[in-house]
Amino acid sequence: MQAWFFSVILVELLDKFFPTPAFRLTNLQIINYPHLTLRHKSRPVRKVDRQLRDIVAEMFELMYAAKGIGLAANQVDLPLQLFIINPSGEKGSGDEMVFVNPVVSAPRGRCEREEGCLSLPGLYANIFRPESVHVAAWDLSGNVFDRRVDDMLARVIQHENDHLEGVLFIDRMNDVDRKTMADELLELEMELENKRLREMIPADSMIRQRLAELESQYCSG
Ligand code: ZN
Repeated sequence: MQAWFFSVILVELLDKFFPTPAFRLTNLQIINYPHLTLRHKSRPVRKVDRQLRDIVAEMFELMYAAKGIGLAANQVDLPLQLFIINPSGEKGSGDEMVFVNPVVSAPRGRCEREEGCLSLPGLYANIFRPESVHVAAWDLSGNVFDRRVDDMLARVIQHENDHLEGVLFIDRMNDVDRKTMADELLELEMELENKRLREMIPADSMIRQRLAELESQYCSG
């Protein structure tokens, strides 16, 4: 991780003195199940630039507007190993935390708690997860987060880290809950298909091409 940090500093300096035209991103939106980017395995971030800082600021705004406490990059259609959390869920209070290239390990205990997801609006279910985990990650300034977390923070971190692996909380719910929610899931699937038919979202090939472009911009090297 140390080498990655030095390369971030180098890239930031290069970006400052030799700005290069890049793939620009504006108007991020939270995407809903079953958008394919939610199943995309995120790649490690190798470059931090002004645009990425703007993206993260926009992600916080979207998260607060949607009344969430965590949001992963692929929920806004980005293929990056990055998620944000503010346990308070309110702008101006609590801690705004950014986790870049997180590594979640050493799970301990097991507990059940209700979860929801901004990409599956209106759906809630009790999910079993480890009670505490160890988390190592960077923020956008190169500060290290490296400690054991438990309770609510452990749960949100695990939920968001799942997103980076292309895993949704519906994959972890029991069969009874999944059957109970079958109609709502079908409704979300139809809604996405309708958007596709009305060309409100691009074709899968276009989405994949855009993800590949972003990966070459932020994940290579
Ligand atoms: Zn989620």
